[in-house]
Amino acid sequence: MTENSGQDAPRKKVSKKRAPDLNTVYTINADGSRNFLQVADVKGKWHLRRNIVYYLLLAVFLITPWLTIGGKPALHLNIPDRSAHIFGGTFTNQDFHLVFFLLIGAGLSIFVMTSLFGRIWCGFFCPQTMFMEGVYRPIERLIEGDRIARIRRNKGEASADKTARKFLKHVVFIALSWFFSVAFMAFFIPPHELITLLPFFPGHSTALIWSLFWTGMLYFDYSWFREQTCLIICPYGRLQSTLVDYDTVIIGYDEKRGEPREKGVKSGGDCIDCRRCVDVCPTGIDIRNGLQLECIGCTNCIDACDDIMDKIGLPQGLVRFDSSRGFETGKSQIFRPRFWIYAVVLLSLTALFVVRAGNRESFHITTMRSQGMPYTIDAGNIRNLYTMHLQNKTDEEKVYFISAADDALEGYEGVSYIIPQPRIALSALGDQQLTLFAIMPKSSYSLPEDFHFAFTDSATGVVQKNKVRFRGP
Ligand code: SF4
Ligand code: SF4
Repeated sequence: MTENSGQDAPRKKVSKKRAPDLNTVYTINADGSRNFLQVADVKGKWHLRRNIVYYLLLAVFLITPWLTIGGKPALHLNIPDRSAHIFGGTFTNQDFHLVFFLLIGAGLSIFVMTSLFGRIWCGFFCPQTMFMEGVYRPIERLIEGDRIARIRRNKGEASADKTARKFLKHVVFIALSWFFSVAFMAFFIPPHELITLLPFFPGHSTALIWSLFWTGMLYFDYSWFREQTCLIICPYGRLQSTLVDYDTVIIGYDEKRGEPREKGVKSGGDCIDCRRCVDVCPTGIDIRNGLQLECIGCTNCIDACDDIMDKIGLPQGLVRFDSSRGFETGKSQIFRPRFWIYAVVLLSLTALFVVRAGNRESFHITTMRSQGMPYTIDAGNIRNLYTMHLQNKTDEEKVYFISAADDALEGYEGVSYIIPQPRIALSALGDQQLTLFAIMPKSSYSLPEDFHFAFTDSATGVVQKNKVRFRGP
């Protein structure tokens, strides 16, 4: 039987103990069933550093929705109103093109990080790892004990102690999943309003459905699916092989120093084949097999091996962060052409984003297509109808004045305009549809001609001109 075959699932008999290899996924048995890992606990300098990062990220996640900048939420996405407050800026659906820069920038940042330090994102910053290793797994250990205790209990007969521990663990997991799902929703519903709606969101069935959905997803992921998310669902691991090169700093095993591995310290290389680095691996791989898609760069194997090296009186670093070049030659070269190319593209995109975000218009006008003929003829005059949409993109109430531009249809005799609402007040982030008319005697008309309507923000004096076309027969 595999040592870790299903914590809650019926146990299966397998003839001999399986070891991780490069040809199979260790967490899936030959018959397709799950080989549920019981990951051993580990302490060490990297464990400490990772936990500091995890708990900082967790604090940012929980606190950010409560923060305000200039009286506005620091980070709030208002889906019904199609607007967002992002660190002091107010964005509407008209700014959606900026998301392009953000997504490309985020992708490139991960490229740069991966090119330099392998899967450091996965091990230190990915929410999946942060919640799994920083929250759910420690709670599991607290309730069900260490790896040996968990394996023994799972192998053993049903007992009150076993049932009580499992029950408690799942209750805590569900409660935590619900808590994190609500915390996530605070980015979409103002948190002061959100807490008044808990736990059943009266009158907000959409919010209730989302809270249940996310609770279910988180519970499923962290109680059972776990490393399978990284191995099966996340596309990033598959990109890894195209992003790392000979100089990328990865977590690896110093084969030159460790081999030939022998049990005991008297002979062979420095690796005593204790398998401690395998027992602590949350994806169930053996780092001594080389860089593998399943490695999420969590550093557990470094701490585990350093601890073993300390115990047997050998220098730490048999498993360590180093480049393939470093492992082979003892020399590393971190900053290389690939990095500089990524960095220049990333900086250019960032600069473009800052410029575009900084020069955003405070109101937006869209000319909408009118139905039917673009013009009508009435008593010898050609009348054009224009339908426009005016949107206030700020958090303040605004008043706008609308008129034909000074040079509109210059040189045409007898032109007039009908602007039913030359003054419009719009609430914060408000919008309104407008109808405008331009009229020209048929005798003055020759060809279609472009002209502008002018929209003036009364508070700032900013004028935006909106181009339209006058058409006739
Ligand atoms: S923990 Fe270190 S010594 Fe033990 S098997 Fe792994 S690499 Fe070898
Ligand atoms: S091989 Fe090491 S760094 Fe990679 S996932 Fe396993 S324990 Fe973490």
